[in-house]
Amino acid sequence: MARHPEICPACFARLEAEAKRCPRCGALMAELSARDYREKLLRALMHPLAEVRMRAVIALGLRAEPETADALAQCALSHPTDVVEGLEVVERLRDWPKTEARDAALIRLSAHPSRLVRRAAARACSIIANRGLIHA
Ligand SMILES: [Zn+2]
Repeated sequence: MARHPEICPACFARLEAEAKRCPRCGALMAELSARDYREKLLRALMHPLAEVRMRAVIALGLRAEPETADALAQCALSHPTDVVEGLEVVERLRDWPKTEARDAALIRLSAHPSRLVRRAAARACSIIANRGLIHA
């Protein structure tokens, strides 16, 4: 069962956990399938406003769907000076269940232009390696 949206997929306003309708734009949450919602969140990762991207990162992070891992890495790599966003992406991915897609995304992020993000990603990768979950 998909979790309830945490942001409005139409206008990206923040939503209460039980909201059936967005208080800002009036969009009805029940009309959105889980898959539509994921597509909208993935598009929000390319939004020009950092705040909107961050909401999408957090919402996708909670959903932990392996097929979105690469898009999250791409979002962080596309905004090389947004260190906060990059670190958020790394932290979210680190806590996901192990999948090849998740590990590949973290490995991609260990080449992030920001040293802080690179280090966090490398640390997440080494935690994975130390657990014996990937072949170093
Ligand atoms: Zn809305």
